Amino acid sequence: MLETMILGGGPGGTGPLVWAAGAGVLGDWLDRGVAVVDRCAGMGGTVGRYCLNADTLGGTFLECLDAPACDPRFAVLRDAPSARALATYRAALPPLPLVGRFLDDLGAVLARVLARHPRSCFLPQRRVSGVSLCRDGSVVAVLRDRSGLRTTLRAASAVLALGGRQPAAWDEWVLRGDLALGRWGDRIVPSDRLLGRDGAAMVAARLAAARAPRVVILGGSHSAFSAAWTLLERLPCIRFGEGGVQILYRTAPRVFYASRAEAAADGYAFSDADVCPATGRVHRLGGLRGDGRALWRRIQGKGDLSRERRATLLPLGDLGDGTLRALLDAADLIVPAFGYRLATVPVTGPDDEPIALACSGPSVDADARLRTASGGVLANVFGIGLGSGFRPWGEMAGEPGFHGQQNSLWLYQHGLGGLIHDGVRRWAVERRARSAAAALPRAARDLAALCLPAELPAHQAG
Ligand SMILES: Cc1cc2nc3c(=O)[nH]c(=O)nc-3n(C[C@H](O)[C@H](O)[C@H](O)COP(=O)(O)OP(=O)(O)OC[C@H]3O[C@@H](n4cnc5c(N)ncnc54)[C@H](O)[C@@H]3O)c2cc1C
Repeated sequence: MLETMILGGGPGGTGPLVWAAGAGVLGDWLDRGVAVVDRCAGMGGTVGRYCLNADTLGGTFLECLDAPACDPRFAVLRDAPSARALATYRAALPPLPLVGRFLDDLGAVLARVLARHPRSCFLPQRRVSGVSLCRDGSVVAVLRDRSGLRTTLRAASAVLALGGRQPAAWDEWVLRGDLALGRWGDRIVPSDRLLGRDGAAMVAARLAAARAPRVVILGGSHSAFSAAWTLLERLPCIRFGEGGVQILYRTAPRVFYASRAEAAADGYAFSDADVCPATGRVHRLGGLRGDGRALWRRIQGKGDLSRERRATLLPLGDLGDGTLRALLDAADLIVPAFGYRLATVPVTGPDDEPIALACSGPSVDADARLRTASGGVLANVFGIGLGSGFRPWGEMAGEPGFHGQQNSLWLYQHGLGGLIHDGVRRWAVERRARSAAAALPRAARDLAALCLPAELPAHQAG
């Protein structure tokens, strides 16, 4: 049986493999059997479809080639055109389509590395449609190929890494009181749609007839500012007047600064809880970066560039119901930028009973195991990637006041990748030990192993 199956071959799913390569343990892991499944023809994921610049330096994406213990089989990637192009952005923010091409090339190398280990493989063009927990502490995934043919795959554990999804049930999304977003459904374009390929063109066509176009963006984090940046910078034929783009936020946007001194020089108010003790950076994890950060500074009139008056920031809490309704009624376009939730598939238990996964709060616990709606966790199903809600702790942690989720490729390929690698390997050992132990009645022993009560992990207690 495989030791683990990784469902989804984007940066989340491949993160633990890249971590293992850097730590010099990839070969050992692959000898135990690892399968990566993706519905696409290759690994690499979807970040390349966003028409934005990254908010991470190009050098960060290349770290997997720079690690001292870098798997020599990765070295061939250094000569790939995508890696060479990315290298010109080592200290700059590369366009995400270029990052996507590099990740596709990295995925192709990983597929070749997997193929050299007889017990491991990449299974392309297979859509995962469900996961079942088995009594023996293994997991079975149901896969369908492009013709719809159903197959199954069994492993001691699974890593769910299917990317993120944004909410879409606008009728259920109540801003406050009776203000459900469904009322404006025909004017809604979620930020993910706007930021994706053709999103700007589609929105430009929708706004073309408006004499004084007005867009309301709901949200105050990265996606909201990326959406505003796209509207203002990527729609040359749409002329927004003053306040034409309104960003309505619940929590005031947080902004990254490299140091306390830099933040103070910019007149940015922060507290000790906003500063990462390890690096001295302000809002290291939760702060706006890149073009979104630059836009925030221009809206605030900070720096040398002319003040950006086409966009305004409005705290939702300061708006009365009537004003909020009027703003939304007047908008030609409403862009909810509510973040992402990890995409999941139906999960069933050993008796085919459905297991509801957590639908609020983080999708995973501190050990990156999937949380259930009843407050437990699945012992051998891990989650990683966009929208997983993982909250970095220990050496991964940043500013103490950060309570949000961290979606970063660096994290997937570093601390979180290592955590998942260690977790699936530990599970495989525990499972073998459990199978060997005959003391407990079998059914009770197996079920106890599958669904654990939610306990505060030792490293989070106290
Ligand atoms: C607009 C935006 C910009 C971002 N910019 C950055 C940045 O600059 N730097 C950074 O570090 N992070 C960034 N992120 C965050 C994050 O690193 C990326 O979103 C990254 O792509 C997440 O990787 P993932 O593997 O979770 O998802 P994805 O890249 O979406 O990969 C998921 C994979 O799962 C596969 N899949 C999905 N469903 C199925 C199924 N049912 N069966 C089989 N396969 C399936 C897909 O084909 C895909 O390959 C950004 C995120 C967003 C939304």
